[in-house]
Amino acid sequence: MTVAPRPAIQVLPQTAAERIAAGEVVERPASVVKELIENSLDAGARRITVEIEAAGRALIRITDDGAGIPAAELSLAFERFATSKIRAASDLTHIRTYGFRGEALPSIAAVARVTVVTRPREEQAAARITVAGGRREAVGSASGAEGTTVTVEDLFFNTPARRGFLKSDARETAVIIETVEAAALAAPEVAFHLTDGGREVLWAPPESFAARARRILGAGLAEHTLEVAAAGAAAEILGIVGMPQIAQPRRTHQWFLVNGRPIRSPLLARAVGQAFHTLIPDDRHPAAVISLRVTPAEVDVNIHPRKAEVRFVHDRTVFDDVVRAVRRGLHETPLVHAVTADPGPSAPRAAGRDVLSHAGGAPAAPYPALDTTGTLGNAAGGAGIGEPEVLWRPRASAAPGWPVIRLIGQLALTYIVGESGGDLILVDQHAAHERVLYERLIARHEAGGAQAQGLVTPGVVDVGPAHAALLADLEPALRALGFEVEPFGPSGVRLLSVPAIATARAPGELFRACLEDLGGDPGPHAGRALEERLAIATACHTAVRAGDRLTMPTMEALLDDLAQTRDPFSCFHGRPTIVRMRGRELERWFYRKT
Ligand code: ADP
Ligand code: MG
Repeated sequence: MTVAPRPAIQVLPQTAAERIAAGEVVERPASVVKELIENSLDAGARRITVEIEAAGRALIRITDDGAGIPAAELSLAFERFATSKIRAASDLTHIRTYGFRGEALPSIAAVARVTVVTRPREEQAAARITVAGGRREAVGSASGAEGTTVTVEDLFFNTPARRGFLKSDARETAVIIETVEAAALAAPEVAFHLTDGGREVLWAPPESFAARARRILGAGLAEHTLEVAAAGAAAEILGIVGMPQIAQPRRTHQWFLVNGRPIRSPLLARAVGQAFHTLIPDDRHPAAVISLRVTPAEVDVNIHPRKAEVRFVHDRTVFDDVVRAVRRGLHETPLVHAVTADPGPSAPRAAGRDVLSHAGGAPAAPYPALDTTGTLGNAAGGAGIGEPEVLWRPRASAAPGWPVIRLIGQLALTYIVGESGGDLILVDQHAAHERVLYERLIARHEAGGAQAQGLVTPGVVDVGPAHAALLADLEPALRALGFEVEPFGPSGVRLLSVPAIATARAPGELFRACLEDLGGDPGPHAGRALEERLAIATACHTAVRAGDRLTMPTMEALLDDLAQTRDPFSCFHGRPTIVRMRGRELERWFYRKT
């Protein structure tokens, strides 16, 4: 057996070493864009223009009106660990700039052809340098405006492997756009301009953070946003949050900044999601731009090589701060879904299997459905449909933003129709009642005990062997909500009590339906506590359904009860309970105004 002679240890040629090191900084075209924008911001630019061609592979050009680089230092800027931003290791503890490692320019120039034209304010002429694949090609003077233009061509021309890892042009372009948008959020006082193949993608003048955040979310979403500002225990929070109506199927409309730096943060994403709990479907994500200020000692920005993530010392406190701030903002805002004749592509689809299972499925309950529930006041002898209109006013304790509604009647045995300030109001009777019952169940449970209603004649319910086996696990949760059961035979239970709220429905049927919901695939509710899922099931199977005929007083009572809930604008599935069609929209239908 022959052993190959061992190669001697050698220091790598500089170009090879640089190309390897570059891999850490320059992962894809967007990394170049990020580094160069940061350099421009560090140079005090007030205006930054980004041009790209072919997803940044052919060209990335960034022009700023910042401080510029003196001609004498220009070639030094391409040396590794050459920086004007720190002088010694001790400076690392109080960094005020985006960059400081002195690696961006040499790294980019190792894998592309980079030309810098730059003119500091006090200089007459601009200086120019071109470095390609780590080799200096030209140095000289040039004409140029104050500031710096960095042109990056043929990215990864000498690193085919890296080039092979790039995603489609559309994807890489999208990442570049996101990168510019993130920088634009971090520096709203700076004007940003982005073009792709000469086509304008983003133009943002200097503006406030709120205005910039709304611009980045886009006009369609910005219309339905609210401002959040709060000083929490660990973080100061400023944000623009989308109303439930514009929640998105993906997280692409969430932005987080910590101490002015755009970051990704699963923690903050979860916090925002938590604040929207039950306000939007579980498979949707709120649109949000949240900027946090925390004491520097409370946050570690160096856990990620490109500083794209951070770690909080007191992450639980930060989480709670964000949940509370966003919740408060939501509770101060009328969250009535505004609808138009064309809901548009961003309109959330009607989600939730539980919703559909009721629409038309069950036979209509005998008129008047709510009279027997005992939960919405006694409506017996009340006015029927077609009786004179009732002017309904919210009680003093109505949720903020809850509209004053003049009740008109019922539509399709499914919706309560009303008027509010000239707008058409529609309330989904099932969703509305679900919200009312759910909050009552949870409130009573939290207050230390559900109200159970003992059954005069305990019923025996055959739940089948599979569910009977589940019962032992479910027992505490069932009891907590008011279901008292004892085993009866191999596949049955004796039902002794049900939640007081749910006495309207046949107890056996209700119990079986709840077990079905809990025993089956938890679907979108998988993340929720058992008690909550049971409360949802109970409320869902107790609530009036589509097809139930409601009297005027019953509808009034339902609206009244809904107005008292904490989150009256959606049911716990995140479906809207109430929508509003603006009067001016109606006018358009009838060509009353143009
Ligand atoms: P770092 O940003 O970590 O200092 P870079 O390699 O990104 O390292 O840049 C090296 C140096 O070049 C910077 O410290 C700065 O002095 C100078 N420089 C780079 N880009 C610009 C720019 N757009 N305007 C002014 N100076 C710049
Ligand atoms: Mg830099």
